[in-house]
Amino acid sequence: MNAIQLTNVSKQYQSGDQSTLALDNVTLTIPMGKLSMLVGPSGCGKTTLISVASGILTPTSGEVVTLGYPLSTLSDTQKVTFRRQHIGFIFQQFNLLSSLTAAENAAMPLVASGVPLHKATQQAITLLNDLGMGAHCHKLPRQLSGGQQQRVAIARSLVHEPDIIICDEPTASLDGKTGHDVMEILRHIANDPKRAVLIVSHDTRVFSFADHLVEMADGQMLTSTSN
Ligand code: ADP
Ligand code: MG
Repeated sequence: MNAIQLTNVSKQYQSGDQSTLALDNVTLTIPMGKLSMLVGPSGCGKTTLISVASGILTPTSGEVVTLGYPLSTLSDTQKVTFRRQHIGFIFQQFNLLSSLTAAENAAMPLVASGVPLHKATQQAITLLNDLGMGAHCHKLPRQLSGGQQQRVAIARSLVHEPDIIICDEPTASLDGKTGHDVMEILRHIANDPKRAVLIVSHDTRVFSFADHLVEMADGQMLTSTSN
């Protein structure tokens, strides 16, 4: 089974009398067990593509099958449940809740699925330990550096053991060394054959981490290359 299969997918945004073709007939496979990277200039449709692949946006035309589920057959509620169960997200902005500790932030996806707070927090602490964050579990986000906050966000994306980790520009607000460290962690996560990691980036410094590199421009897929 593939992680994500897009077939002839287009997405047109309409705002007022302005329309933008953000995805133009994209056919693409994202495999399991690999680190796939989706690269291309700002505005080429990368965020739109991952939003369509995860069911956040509905394509204008074409078919999206994620983890074997044809997303067009799921209701909006089912799509939310599907994402909660199967997908972890990491963004450029860490999106941590400022009044919660690192461990509580990382525990949120489990809490949202009904796991009791204490148990969820224990699982989050185990993951934070693995990410070298053991000493920082009970700190608030403002007491952490950017790189440490992104590790909390990585723990949050993994805590419910998702099948696919989707990262949108995960290193864009980090300095070179810290961004490199975060990529090493994502690289390690992608070694699990039951998991897929899909990273969106326009940061050329990180392209070398990819097993599978997909190049986009102007809403179209230019190349798809596997190592
Ligand atoms: P990227 O992530 O590669 O920078 P996006 O997927 O965000 O690209 O955007 C692709 C194109 O779609 C751009 O031209 C952008 O301006 C446009 N776009 C993105 N989101 C919207 C929206 N909600 N409404 C209208 N246009 C949008
Ligand atoms: Mg984007």
